[in-house]
Amino acid sequence: MPTFADLNLAPELLRAVEAEGYTEPTPIQEQAIPHVLQGRDLLGAAQTGTGKTAAFVLPIMHLLKPFATPSPSPARHPVRALVLTPTRELAVQISESCATYGKHLPLRSGVVYGGVPMPPQQKMLLAGVEILIATPGRLLDHAGSKTVNLSQVSILVLDEADRMLDMGFMPDLKRILALIPTKRQSLLFSATFSEPIRALAHDFLRDPVTVEVARRNQTNDNVRQVIMPVDDRRRRALLSDLLKARDWDQTLVFVNRKIEANRLGDFLHRNGHNVVEIHGDKDQKQRNKALAAFKAGEARVMVATDVAARGLDIEALPAVINYELPFDPEDYVHRIGRTGRAGALGDAISLVAPDEMEKLTLVRKLTKAQLSIEIPIGYEPILLDFPRDLISKATMVRLRQIGRAHV
Ligand code: AMP
Repeated sequence: MPTFADLNLAPELLRAVEAEGYTEPTPIQEQAIPHVLQGRDLLGAAQTGTGKTAAFVLPIMHLLKPFATPSPSPARHPVRALVLTPTRELAVQISESCATYGKHLPLRSGVVYGGVPMPPQQKMLLAGVEILIATPGRLLDHAGSKTVNLSQVSILVLDEADRMLDMGFMPDLKRILALIPTKRQSLLFSATFSEPIRALAHDFLRDPVTVEVARRNQTNDNVRQVIMPVDDRRRRALLSDLLKARDWDQTLVFVNRKIEANRLGDFLHRNGHNVVEIHGDKDQKQRNKALAAFKAGEARVMVATDVAARGLDIEALPAVINYELPFDPEDYVHRIGRTGRAGALGDAISLVAPDEMEKLTLVRKLTKAQLSIEIPIGYEPILLDFPRDLISKATMVRLRQIGRAHV
């Protein structure tokens, strides 16, 4: 087994890693760190939860160590590494990792994202940071008002590049790339290697090494995947009863649309559930507050959209519920990857209405996973449209009902 010491990282970084209790590098760290230290461009296929943040933050800090200085002069702290990420939550998480891993080095890191006032970010940028983590739109705002100079960037990271493309950030990325030197080291991380990602890699990376950890679209064997057929009109009531019947400490519920997240949150609240919602229409303060309440265990249920939940690092969730199947089957893989982490068992339950057969077929085709089907007594829908091979293995389940949900 390789150790962190085998990776030849600076002793200050090894101390920080040790203090976190990491005993050995994860596969993405073991494979990526040596290449990054050699200055190579890298195309990494890895999802959140694999340790990919440390896989780029540690070697970047090692490479920037010669520039680390306690000098207060802003001129001594130009942006040397730029990390672009799609969501504010992910940006904050990466910045927290930078603070953790860099605590013994006088390297500065900072984070900018939209939805919050500009002035505190401007102050931080004017004081100077070596490592800047940013969402694309807000970075361009700062570049436009000349509070940030990117002409000394020598390392660029595109994190969750697939999601950045999905969210329409391509034009912003191109504008940012025009502001940084072409002579640089570039690292691109993506959960999937789709055609557009390969094209992006071809345009922006120079002779990259490819590092791939979990196979594409592989779902985790520790997760018990269950389909619960339900009539569309009774989805909410079933969800409420299910949450009451099972004794999961915490549950993450995924919905497809922001508006549904709000409605469902209100409904669950009215039915006595301790629930928070997290989606793109909430401002940053509300999102941070919701996430903190969920992480602290004050809220038992979090209702989330895919984009808002992307990159959230929530430890050991016992259950994920798909309130409805996602339109993109790859989101199904991401969603259920939130449970069953680090060897623990997890439940992933999808409520599926008869009009969702197309989405169900796509999920089955992509994951090839074992899905069991459980028909909740009292909620049986018409099963005619469901695939026969699933229905033939169906079991009926009784939900212990502690008072019925009122709609
Ligand atoms: P990431 O995929 O970067 O979001 O990391 C997922 C989680 O794994 C974070 O909570 C990290 O603190 C943790 N982690 C990262 N590297 C290691 C490691 N080598 N050993 C144990 N945990 C780690």
